[in-house]
Amino acid sequence: MTSAGGERDRVLEAKERLGRKLLVLAHHYQRDEIAEVADFRGDSLELARRAAQAAAQYIVFCGVHFMAETAAILARPGQRVLIPREDAGCFLAHSVDRVQLLDAWDRLSAVMDVERELLPVAYVNTTAEVKAFVGGHGGACCTSSSAKEVLSWAIKRSPRVFFIPDQYLGRNTARLLGIPEEEIALWDPHHPPQDLAPFKEKRLILWRGACNVHVRFLPEDVERVRRKHPRVRVIVHPECRPEVAKLADEVGSTSYIIRKVTESTPGTVWAVGTEHRLVARLAKENPDKTVFSLADPPPYCSYMSLTRLSDLARVLSGLLKGKEPGRVEVPGEIADPARAALERMLEAVG
Ligand code: SF4
Repeated sequence: MTSAGGERDRVLEAKERLGRKLLVLAHHYQRDEIAEVADFRGDSLELARRAAQAAAQYIVFCGVHFMAETAAILARPGQRVLIPREDAGCFLAHSVDRVQLLDAWDRLSAVMDVERELLPVAYVNTTAEVKAFVGGHGGACCTSSSAKEVLSWAIKRSPRVFFIPDQYLGRNTARLLGIPEEEIALWDPHHPPQDLAPFKEKRLILWRGACNVHVRFLPEDVERVRRKHPRVRVIVHPECRPEVAKLADEVGSTSYIIRKVTESTPGTVWAVGTEHRLVARLAKENPDKTVFSLADPPPYCSYMSLTRLSDLARVLSGLLKGKEPGRVEVPGEIADPARAALERMLEAVG
């Protein structure tokens, strides 16, 4: 068995040998052992941008599968995207597939002209097939950093928007844009509504999906930390329940949370409602502040935790031998419309 130090040396040596041909990207929720050896760490929007601009021949994406797929869709001809753990999925991305989406589209077409009146917006946490459906129907992708701009872009273009699949991100963003509760409806793919008439009157239809890490934060958690730490600032990710977001002092994407905590004055006490590896790293990197998880015990994303140094070392060793282990490919007929949805997002946020 190789030690963690040995794996790290293997990774660093392979990185040196591959030089500028290689770019290792890591999501903020990755283990420290991965975050420390990556060339760039970011949230999904930052990583999508970095992948789109990369000159490297090989992009090794340490994150979950939909992120590597996104990088593969945005890759230039000849560029290769590889993921060290092909089994790294996402609970949220699994909450919608193309068949369910086609079924919803078909059912809703009974009460509205879906092609003219309903514009789909997909959170980037979706499969390439779902992004392709959205792009093929004139819609756009969004991330938690860009949800406000993209939803605002969509509601200006269409009487109704179908927001897929994170109901809480949709609802929290709708609140920011002043869309009233009575103009929002929920689409449950497992129990499609029988009475479709009310959907005709809505401006926003939300897919009933959620991230099972962020749903763990509850209003009771906010009340508990406020009782215990009267000066606490509560900051949460917009995938959290709206009841939690309403009680928080700040709501924002991963990069927003990092910026707010890092730029706060020494001595600030933060309770953070997001994946725990990021929270623990923030605590370590901000020793002049008190930073802890809003929930007890804190929630981890099991998919994000899968990637270990040994997995990265295996991919890099394969590249050195002329192989491409864990290569992620998206067929052109899916990649082209999916890219259109992603490019509309990148344009909407500038
Ligand atoms: S934290 Fe939630 S949304 Fe992010 S990868 Fe894990 S399951 Fe998916």
